[in-house]
Amino acid sequence: METIVIDGSTGEGGGQILRTSLTLSCITGKNLHIENIRAARRNPGLAKQHLSCVQAACRICNGQSQGATKGSQVLDFQPGPVQSGDFHFDIGSAGSVSLVIQTLLPALFLADKPSAVTVTGGTHNPMAPPFDFLDETFLPAIANAGFDSSCKLIKYGFFPAGGGKITFNIKPWQKSTEKIIDLCRPNSKLQIQARIYTAKLPVRVVQRQRELLLRSGLKIRNVEHIEVEDSDGPGNCAIIRLIAGERTTVFTAFGMRGKPSEKVISEVVSLAENFLAPPAAVGRFLADQLLIYMALAKAGSFTTNELSSHLQTNMEVIKKFLPVAFNIEQLKQVYRISCQHL
Ligand code: ATP
Repeated sequence: METIVIDGSTGEGGGQILRTSLTLSCITGKNLHIENIRAARRNPGLAKQHLSCVQAACRICNGQSQGATKGSQVLDFQPGPVQSGDFHFDIGSAGSVSLVIQTLLPALFLADKPSAVTVTGGTHNPMAPPFDFLDETFLPAIANAGFDSSCKLIKYGFFPAGGGKITFNIKPWQKSTEKIIDLCRPNSKLQIQARIYTAKLPVRVVQRQRELLLRSGLKIRNVEHIEVEDSDGPGNCAIIRLIAGERTTVFTAFGMRGKPSEKVISEVVSLAENFLAPPAAVGRFLADQLLIYMALAKAGSFTTNELSSHLQTNMEVIKKFLPVAFNIEQLKQVYRISCQHL
């Protein structure tokens, strides 16, 4: 069987190269040899979060791996056939639930029967898709191309304590030439809402953040507050939801010890402002996450206003496994990304 060799130091040089490689190895049945894993990160090699992704990938396809130890920068992975099932994974830390699911989802969509996956870990972590983004932005976007799944938050898990839980129900992919990712028209008639999560924090945090959101200039219509009672540790995140008809784009910033509320709110506001400035349909985080689904469908397009290094790196990794090409077309103020079969 062919082995695909991936250099984990290319482009973004982070964990996404590993996750995309694992899932595409499961899907294509091709062996994976990856070296220089997360070479561009301050703590290179496999962290607990990434080890969970490797173990989860092995579980869904009865695969084998060598080099799956903490800090390892080289991994070999030999997949077996992907099996649907009822899976439970415990990351055992605040490692991101959504990044484990990012690894499994594309492969489980290609299984012949539905799957249920429960993952315990962080549900609201910096540098990863929070639950709200999965539920409101990501899963609806891929459903456009027949990738039908749902998620349910069972327990919140904020970084660093973790201990949250999400369940996912994944149906086999309904492939159809009529259903493709076609997210090119900019969002219109936007409603802007905000949500603040706090757990085990003084009430003044939410008061301050609400006031800052309402004064931000974004014309936020309402600010919802969710006080999480059963969190394992303290937590705070501020979410801006840009709602245009059926399409919701979620941006998030995280509070942490020593980080002023002004900084949390200015981060999330500037993510939303940057997205709103040129008229693109897809935000920077969704953009890199859609690519693999377009590649499986060998079709689809979207507009985005930033060519992030996650986006460009993910394109390169996907092309190593699948016979697809990505085109980047610069329109006036935005980029149109499309995918086609080679
Ligand atoms: P590392 O790079 O340290 O290995 P990592 O494993 O988290 O970390 P990255 O390569 O940085 O991997 O990938 C992070 C993923 O999380 C990307 O798909 C990115 O789009 C997504 N992401 C990061 N922040 C957000 C956010 N606020 N909302 C939605 N998605 C996010």
